[in-house]
Amino acid sequence: YAESMGRNRYAVFTRAMEKAVVRRQVLESELHKALQESRFILRFQPQIADDDYKCIGAEALLRWSHPTEGIVSPTEFIPIAEQNHLIIPIGEWVLKQVCHQIKYWLETYGYSPFITVNLSAVQIRNSDLVHYIEKLLEQTQIPPHLLELEITETVLLHEGRASIEVLNQLRNLGLKLSIDDFGTGYSSLNYLKRLPLDKLKIDRSFVKDIPGDPDSETIINTIINMSHDMGLEVIAEGVETKEQLNYLLAEQCCLFQGFYFDPPLSLKQFETKYFDNLHHSVLFDNKVVSLK
Ligand code: C2E
Ligand code: MG
Ligand code: MG
Ligand code: MG
Repeated sequence: YAESMGRNRYAVFTRAMEKAVVRRQVLESELHKALQESRFILRFQPQIADDDYKCIGAEALLRWSHPTEGIVSPTEFIPIAEQNHLIIPIGEWVLKQVCHQIKYWLETYGYSPFITVNLSAVQIRNSDLVHYIEKLLEQTQIPPHLLELEITETVLLHEGRASIEVLNQLRNLGLKLSIDDFGTGYSSLNYLKRLPLDKLKIDRSFVKDIPGDPDSETIINTIINMSHDMGLEVIAEGVETKEQLNYLLAEQCCLFQGFYFDPPLSLKQFETKYFDNLHHSVLFDNKVVSLK
């Protein structure tokens, strides 16, 4: 019995693996076409500041609208795109969309929140990145501080001196830089001090267990205090409950992103909720939410 169970389980396991491998091959072979056929979409997830719960910024999050598979998650296709280097043109597409969107909002509403864009290590290693962004800023004439780049801690730890130089150049263009998923990568204070940074994003895995889990609370309090000491902004990602929000507020973290406020929104949803109410306000949880 045990043996047949074992064999069965093995069969189930290999079938599942086979399926995963096939899906990966299919996605990989179609990624190039997806780019040519403009099958990528951006969602915008608001970043909310505690005073009046203003939406002061938003993170641009990529989706692949696949003709038969539906919406494919970036956690599935970004690693593939990094391997075959399609992340370079895909990443350029994201940057271009975002800069033109900011330009459009400025022209149409006289105002734009800042927009954050995720960068992968492969993009930072590509020497054309700085030049590409410089050109985009020239073309669109948007204020550079409205564009913020998110880099994960692990990327920085493994990239070393060359990538720090790229970050310096990007910051010299006037862009903002933040460290994504902060707390998961073991970077030392000393190391952080050498980086040209504006903001730390507390990883969702710590926010998930507050209040209540002593380890997560300690880590969160340490990150918040450290940010204040270093003159950096700090934002908590993955805020899902009022209890989490209240805990963070009490610990002096005043910028939030998460399902408690908004999931990643379509462009239309984002504009309807925040821009069309620019001169009115949205009521959220008995508080007034506004853009300006
Ligand atoms: P990330 O940059 O850490 O983005 C945050 C992820 O957490 C997003 O997943 C978002 O939908 C999700 N999230 C936000 N609030 C909550 C919450 O309250 N609860 C929970 N459970 N989840 C929340 P998403 O959109 O699937 O993106 C996953 C990752 O894919 C991103 O993690 C980022 O690393 C990567 N990614 C997304 N867009 C791009 C892109 O344009 N370029 C690159 N290189 N990577 C991207
Ligand atoms: Mg991010
Ligand atoms: Mg993150
Ligand atoms: Mg994350």
